[in-house]
Amino acid sequence: MENNDFAIKFAKLRKSSGITQQTLGNYLGVSNRAVSKWETGLAMPSTENIRKLAKIFDVPVDHFFSGLADAERSEEPPSGMKSLTDLYRIGRGPSSSHTMGPERACRMFREKRPDADSFRAVLYGSIAKLCGAYSIDRIIRSAFAPLGCEVETNMTAVDIPHPNTFDLIACKNGAELERIRVVSTGGGRIECDKYPTFDEPDVYPVSSFERIAECCRAENLRLWQYVERIEGRAVMDRLLEIWRCMKQSIAAGLADEGILPGGLGVQKKAKQLFNRQHIDESSETRENRMVCAYAFAVSEQNACGGRVVTAPTCGASGVVPAVLYYQQQRKGYSDAEIVRALATGGIVGNLVKTNASISGSECGCQAEIGTACAMAAAALGELFELDLDKIEYAAEIAIEHHLGLTCDPIGGLVQIPCIERNAVAAMRAINAVSLASFLSDSRKISLDKVIRVMKETGLDISKLYKETSEGGLAKLKVK
Ligand code: SF4
Repeated sequence: MENNDFAIKFAKLRKSSGITQQTLGNYLGVSNRAVSKWETGLAMPSTENIRKLAKIFDVPVDHFFSGLADAERSEEPPSGMKSLTDLYRIGRGPSSSHTMGPERACRMFREKRPDADSFRAVLYGSIAKLCGAYSIDRIIRSAFAPLGCEVETNMTAVDIPHPNTFDLIACKNGAELERIRVVSTGGGRIECDKYPTFDEPDVYPVSSFERIAECCRAENLRLWQYVERIEGRAVMDRLLEIWRCMKQSIAAGLADEGILPGGLGVQKKAKQLFNRQHIDESSETRENRMVCAYAFAVSEQNACGGRVVTAPTCGASGVVPAVLYYQQQRKGYSDAEIVRALATGGIVGNLVKTNASISGSECGCQAEIGTACAMAAAALGELFELDLDKIEYAAEIAIEHHLGLTCDPIGGLVQIPCIERNAVAAMRAINAVSLASFLSDSRKISLDKVIRVMKETGLDISKLYKETSEGGLAKLKVK
């Protein structure tokens, strides 16, 4: 972590001074690659060079080691990225940005204001619209219990910074003590205007695939090794817990039957898909049926409020486990190999989360399912031991062919089309890896570029198609 704080401070100073890595390297008598490693947290300069750097940038040596202030961290992104533990979160469905994010914010605010005797919450945008469908008011009240919390919805406010915005107000004897504005940016992540620490600090000093690939090539690392180098061994242990939770969601979903809650009368189908073997089933049909059964299993658990892993969100939580579990069942990959694949897919999810969005209400379903598909494709690429170029290409194909995908679930429930969509995206991830393994030599578009396009496209999509329950499929009446 110390390396990373140094890297963020050093990179910021160098960029603002306009001095190139090459010039700095020449002056200090080191290669530009060495300077690049200092900026990416892979290495530290010698004590002598740190003294020289302090002189060049006219700061005290202590500046590099004083740790990053909260304000400095919050103004720094997107030059860095959060831990993968901020991407993969275990929680209850059905919507990470509408249920997990608000619940976290309420618990954190309650801890910040132990002097309050009651709270109020005002919900805006998509959070207000889907308050009833996702029982957000109940979740907020239970997060503040046993203290009381009044929940209001305001669907007319237009000056909100994000569709998933809400205010929390701490009160004492009926008077307002403090009001904070919170944005739930997807996958359970939250940002707050008053408390930057609600948001996790950056641990990766870079936020583009190009820079990460540069480090991996320089150090001869695979992507999972880069993750371990930056985050330490502990992240792999956490990813093992994440994988165990994903497998539990699949097992629970395959054993479950009945109708999903919410009134649409949608039947749980994972068990049926898993068991319904054709007499003369081809291996391709079996693969399709099994992968889809696993994706349905997790997505149905999510839809009924079960425990899932955000990958990158609750709504898209079925894609990554489905493809990895199928491969583990079929080819016997160990849990340790799956964990490496999760780390690889996590880097891709983190890049999208940092540089674009993983929120359906901000950028449509391309941001959720498209990202999940890209994460699954990259993870599979690691399992199949593809090289860095092919992994990048697989992830790029997966996002590119979800561009423009809208988010318009019927009744605002994460059921139709979400559950099938997880299954279709899981199969598409397999297809993307297969194409990438044959064609990477001829590719023209980088992953970083397509992530940028995804964001632009998402911002251009009409708000009717961004989890408002007002456009597209959401207008259909179901029997
Ligand atoms: S349509 Fe996509 S983005 Fe929207 S709720 Fe369903 S899975 Fe999430």
